[in-house]
Amino acid sequence: MKNFYMLDIDLTTAKTEKVDITHLFERYIGGTGVATALFDEIDPEIDPMSPEAPVIFACGPFSSVFPVATKTVVVFKSPLSGNLGESHAGGRLAMAMYGAGYHVIRFRGKAHFPSTIEIDGDNFKMSSASSLRGMSALATERIVRDHYKSDYKRSIIRIGPAGERLSPIACATVDSSRHFGRLGVGGVLGSKNIKAIVVSGGKYWKIDNPGPFNSYYKKLYEAVVESDQMKKYHDLGTPVNVVPLSKLNGLPTRNFSQGYFENAEGISGETFATRHLAQQIACAHCQCGCIHMATLRECFNPDHHMYKTIKVSYDHELIFAWGSNLSIGNSEDLLKLLYYVEKQGWDAISMGVILAWVCEAYQRGIITDEHTDGLVANFGDATTFMKMLERISHRHNEFYCDLEKGSIYCAEKYGGKDFAIAFGKNEAPGYMTGLHSYLGYATGVRHSHLDSAGYSIDQKKINSKKTDSEWTKSMYDESVWRMVLNSLVICLFARNIYTPEIICEGLQLLGYEGFDEKRLNETAVTIHALKNRQKKEFGFKFSELYLPKRLEKAATTCGHVTCEQFDEQVKIFEGLVEADIQKLEQK
Ligand code: SF4
Repeated sequence: MKNFYMLDIDLTTAKTEKVDITHLFERYIGGTGVATALFDEIDPEIDPMSPEAPVIFACGPFSSVFPVATKTVVVFKSPLSGNLGESHAGGRLAMAMYGAGYHVIRFRGKAHFPSTIEIDGDNFKMSSASSLRGMSALATERIVRDHYKSDYKRSIIRIGPAGERLSPIACATVDSSRHFGRLGVGGVLGSKNIKAIVVSGGKYWKIDNPGPFNSYYKKLYEAVVESDQMKKYHDLGTPVNVVPLSKLNGLPTRNFSQGYFENAEGISGETFATRHLAQQIACAHCQCGCIHMATLRECFNPDHHMYKTIKVSYDHELIFAWGSNLSIGNSEDLLKLLYYVEKQGWDAISMGVILAWVCEAYQRGIITDEHTDGLVANFGDATTFMKMLERISHRHNEFYCDLEKGSIYCAEKYGGKDFAIAFGKNEAPGYMTGLHSYLGYATGVRHSHLDSAGYSIDQKKINSKKTDSEWTKSMYDESVWRMVLNSLVICLFARNIYTPEIICEGLQLLGYEGFDEKRLNETAVTIHALKNRQKKEFGFKFSELYLPKRLEKAATTCGHVTCEQFDEQVKIFEGLVEADIQKLEQK
């Protein structure tokens, strides 16, 4: 087995240390497992925005070695939930970290001024990013790319103005439209005075055993490009879901008040492909290429008829958050809003869900013209949404400042918690298929649809004889298994390709000893329990999870869901978590 290293960076002193953490990779595989183990050392009371709060980026042993092992995970304390924060992004970052010779990069401390961090192999440099202050996430990338040269491919992480304003829903953008989107890592980087991070290097491992390696690689490669397993992601991409989901009553519409969107065709994958698609691009070392880029023509000087053509990425989650859930049925309007969000560097799901809450709060008189300073918040009104985004970014008044602090923050301050659609304080993603989609968002370690795919369980439930509790157990097993996938940090679109057998074979080729299926499963249970134990220490309680009342009233793919049903399944899930935490403590 090769050695794995962490670059430990103290931003306050600008000192770095290269730490051999091979023992953690042997025990926790890599990625989320290793980052969680490192995070276990922190004080549970720590303020997420304090210099002492660490931010840990980690990739895995398969990164840049095997197909579609493309993601990097970041673990931090979330300023949005106040609990464990975790987010995943693709792009070139995993490849660049591997090239730089580090599978983990940990930031602690706080830079004395807004900074760009450069990691080029063994070279580390911090320089002033004062001239980048207030720049959009897109402009920052262009300038940093021109300025910081390397002999190797660079990956660039940066924050937009939202991160600089320390918004707890700010994301960090990576390379071409990839994001550490959820739970506010952009605000945490802003609190550390990090505007951009450039990573590059050429320290690629030599493969010792090319024969078996090549045949293993070929098997995976063929599964990615020649089977149907990833075809849908490459073709129309995840927006292929928009129309079918709406027909199944599972596409959140007008703040989750219904699952059917009458204008779904206007924002469908097919519409985007025929009207806007410019190209499909891929994360480094992915042969699928699911990233769909649309072109948007924008007039920037009407007096002189001057236009520019912009590329904006789109996928199912963005279409739900800025389309159906705000009742925007026009793809061009949707792209214009997305472009603004992309420049500011907000979590697009969170900001879309917050504006949906604003519309409903305005309809109910909880939010008035006094708050909005005269803007009438109406579903379907893209022009007003754009003005609202501008006002939020210009900190127009207290109300607009509050909107980038999260829907629960706003609902607790102004009212309307029953229709603030968030789980664990994280705004909900784009599926309302039934009980298990909601349960998955609530109980998942990062309160994401990617924790367990409850939405897919809901669809399997139709015509099934299994009870809800049995499905909850299946969902639990799936969330535990994903700890292995997230420790390898493979793209979850390839989750059916990376079976336990295939993973064991790959680990063996890389010199990992003793990883059979049993050990893989035990490791998954350990990591899942470790995360849940950390969350408990940070103050998370399953008993405080709730189904926003609005969701009781809205029919889903599987009919109505009640608070009682939800609470009952949360208890079952909690029991399974507690049993695993106890096992962990007995070890
Ligand atoms: S399938 Fe898409 S998100 Fe996944 S690695 Fe490939 S390009 Fe990136």
